[in-house]
Amino acid sequence: MSKSELQALHQQIAVCKKCILHKSRVKAVPGVGPERANIMFIGEAPGFHENQQGLPFVGPAGRLLDELLERIGLRRESVFITNVVKCRPPKNRDPQPEEIEARRPYLDQQIELLQPKMVITLGRFSMARYFPNAKISRIHGQPRKIEGVIYYPMYHPAAALHQPSLRRTVEEDVLKIPELLAQIDEMADSKPPEQVEQLSLF
Ligand code: URA
Repeated sequence: MSKSELQALHQQIAVCKKCILHKSRVKAVPGVGPERANIMFIGEAPGFHENQQGLPFVGPAGRLLDELLERIGLRRESVFITNVVKCRPPKNRDPQPEEIEARRPYLDQQIELLQPKMVITLGRFSMARYFPNAKISRIHGQPRKIEGVIYYPMYHPAAALHQPSLRRTVEEDVLKIPELLAQIDEMADSKPPEQVEQLSLF
C-alpha cells in the first residue's frame, strides 16, 4: 500500500530539525487518528510520556481527555489528536513563539489533508493560533465557523487537573460538541480568516 500524504508528512515531522526542540526529543509526536476524522483536537506540546512514546496525550491529561470523550460517546480512535508543537520542550516549559511558528506549516498541512469538520483547541497556545489576543476565560465553549469549519476553544485538560474548579467547565464545553457537529450546516459562517484577529473581541 502506498504511503498517504499524511503519513509522509508525519515522517517528515519525525526527523524535523526546524527548531531547537529536536535536540532533546526522544520521539517526535506528529499526531494520531483516522485520516477521515470529523474532529481534530490540538493541544500544546508533548510532555514526558508523549516524548517517550511518540503519541499525543498519553499521560494524565490524556486520561482525562479519554474520560471526556467517553462522556459524549467517543473513543480516542475516532478523533485526530495533535499539538501545536511536535517535540517536547525541555522541562515542560511553555513552547516559545519561534518554536510554534516553525511548526505552523505542519499544523496547516495536517488540517488541509484531514479536512476536519471541527477543530478543538485545548489551552491557550492552540487557541492563540486561531484567536490571537483572545482570553480563554472569555471565549472557551464558544464556537466560530470559519470557511465551513467549526473552531471551538476549550481549556486544556491539564488545567482542569491542576484547578479542580475548572473540571465542570471543561465537561460542560465537551458536552456541547455533538450538538455543534450536528448543527454544522445550519451554523452561520463567521468572519473570514484574515479578520479572525477581531474575533478576540467576541
Ligand atoms: N499536553 C499536551 O498539550 N499535549 C500532549 O500531547 C500531552 C499533554
